[in-house]
Amino acid sequence: MEGPSIHLAAEQLRPFAGRRILQVSGNSRIGIERLRRRVVRDVFAWGKHLVLQFDTFALRVHFLLWGTFAATVRGESVTGDYRRTGPPRLVLRFANGEITIWSASLRFLDTPSARDHYDFSVDILSDSWNPRAALRKARRHPDAEIADVLLDQNIFAGVGNIIKNEVLYRTRTSPFTRVRALQPRRLRAIVKDARVFSFRFLELRRIFALKKHLEVYGRGTCGRCGRKINRKVHGTRERRSFFCRVCQPVPA
Ligand SMILES: [Zn+2]
Repeated sequence: MEGPSIHLAAEQLRPFAGRRILQVSGNSRIGIERLRRRVVRDVFAWGKHLVLQFDTFALRVHFLLWGTFAATVRGESVTGDYRRTGPPRLVLRFANGEITIWSASLRFLDTPSARDHYDFSVDILSDSWNPRAALRKARRHPDAEIADVLLDQNIFAGVGNIIKNEVLYRTRTSPFTRVRALQPRRLRAIVKDARVFSFRFLELRRIFALKKHLEVYGRGTCGRCGRKINRKVHGTRERRSFFCRVCQPVPA
């Protein structure tokens, strides 16, 4: 799950803030019985992390590549179309509903205020997002491919593979372009669009219409020129890029 999905998750789980956990189950081995009878004080997102804050500690959920979750509030699903497969990692039951999490990495943070430990200026969706700092940090990797830099969570927290591919297509940038080969104007446009597209992703996710609006990720042909969309696993992160060779040329 990418940043916008996590921000949406934090919104969807807000009805549990102030509520006490009545029952805990799941196959996690981090000592989840610690959560029993605790009151959720806060739910927030940072990049790809979802955090549930309790009085003296917090639970950090990182969904990695395959993690997912579902929640019901007063019998109604609030999470819509998320897939559920296999035994859950964690199930939290409250008087007003329940949260179920699959295949995520869970970690306890021993702090009464996990928010203070996160730098929100790198979160692509945060009010504190600092595009100038992102630009500066991206330039520190002149030899890296832009596709790898966009996935760097210390620069663009919340950007995942879908956002990366769409932003590069929208800004007509080849995923293989080295940072040093990008014109300053182009790099600024990429940084700006990473945020703009992330908010669009959030709104499309909210109405379950993300997939049909993606322009390059998972597509077969280019909507601009009609040619084939290519796919390639590359870079130090070995993630897949979708791209049009005509609309996203590699700079000479
Ligand atoms: Zn094209």
